[in-house]
Amino acid sequence: MKQKKIIIIGGGIVGSTAAFYLSQNPHLQITLIDEGKGNATRAAAGIICPWLSQRRNQAWYQLVDKGAAFYLDLMQDLQEAGLEQLPYKQTGTLVFKKKDSLLEKLAKLAQERRIQSPMIGELDVLKGRDLAQSIPPLETEQGAVFTRGGGRVDGGQLLDQLQKLVEQQGGLIIKGQAQLLSNKQVSVGTQLYPYDEIILATGAWLPQALQPLGYTVDIVPQKGQLLEVQTAFNTDTWPGCMLHGEIDILPFEGGKLVIGATHENNQGFDLTVDEEKIQQMKEMATSFIPDLERYQVSHTRVGTRAYTSDFLPFYGRLSDQPSILVASGLGSSGLTCGPFIGWQLAQSILGRTHDFDATPYSPAAYITIKQND
Ligand SMILES: Cc1cc2nc3c(=O)[nH]c(=O)nc-3n(C[C@H](O)[C@H](O)[C@H](O)COP(=O)(O)OP(=O)(O)OC[C@H]3O[C@@H](n4cnc5c(N)ncnc54)[C@H](O)[C@@H]3O)c2cc1C
Repeated sequence: MKQKKIIIIGGGIVGSTAAFYLSQNPHLQITLIDEGKGNATRAAAGIICPWLSQRRNQAWYQLVDKGAAFYLDLMQDLQEAGLEQLPYKQTGTLVFKKKDSLLEKLAKLAQERRIQSPMIGELDVLKGRDLAQSIPPLETEQGAVFTRGGGRVDGGQLLDQLQKLVEQQGGLIIKGQAQLLSNKQVSVGTQLYPYDEIILATGAWLPQALQPLGYTVDIVPQKGQLLEVQTAFNTDTWPGCMLHGEIDILPFEGGKLVIGATHENNQGFDLTVDEEKIQQMKEMATSFIPDLERYQVSHTRVGTRAYTSDFLPFYGRLSDQPSILVASGLGSSGLTCGPFIGWQLAQSILGRTHDFDATPYSPAAYITIKQND
């Protein structure tokens, strides 16, 4: 018999992963409520390669490093749950640098990090013909560090699969905007849903989700846009390309290239496509793969990232209302660390311990507890 009612608000990578693991427990009644608007996970490019970032924050690195490695566990769990077509693949990643001196510096950093992060895998510095072997139409004077362990994931496909499994495992999925009420209830329209424990995995909308209970949250939204180009290239085994600046080119099966993304502050929750920015990104990619000129933009995507003021994600229980768990602030690496965060939230509800120290990501530093009148 189902004993405990768990509600999850937000069907992005965090909420959907948590719902997947929780719905495996026959004693829990799982309800996932998602509005879907601005969903960053479905907009994301899908690069899972955090190791060569210049960012020095250790807490961030620990989380994304663990997050990237967790993809292997998640894929195994999805396979065991019956999935055949997995949305994640390690095809390697190329990180480009304009100058040889920067390339050498990056290669040194990668070697050092591989000691702590063996998933980085084989490393190479590639140039000219060697680069063209991995991506034949590539034309650039630049060199790149190649990391074999880099991966790509189709965020939309992963969400569809997780949510399908949630339903197969007896969970309920509701499409709509949820409102948190004070008496351990949530409303969607006129319908009320009681809960014993709740996860607010609402991405950039966590301030709005907690506002009815009187909390303020250190989160701002950032708009991100990208484009897809359907080509006739055989992209199946191409590695991901992280170019300098904001642009990445991420190849998927069947000739699809995902190119992006923008990082636009001060745009709030705007979801309109800016054609000029889309064309600029395409031109940047074309300067690396000139043959791209022959192809039109086939799709555009827009999503809203969530950032804290120190750019670190947070997650866990609210100290003054422990039946409420939250996660937000995943920024531009949330597809990498999101599944691991969702899994940890599920473990917390299941009363299971694990050996990852989540203290640096405590929500207390980002959520101001309401004052009692
Ligand atoms: C263009 C772009 C490219 C990116 N590329 C990468 C990448 O290559 N690699 C990487 O690691 N990361 C990438 N990211 C970042 C990553 O996508 C996000 O950090 C991550 O997906 C956030 O996941 P989330 O579950 O926290 O939130 P989201 O995926 O945003 O999900 C939150 C969901 O909650 C719903 N919601 C909010 N409030 C309510 C409510 N009251 N009721 C019901 N539903 C509600 C929203 O509609 C949304 O569906 C990218 C992001 C963008 C925008």
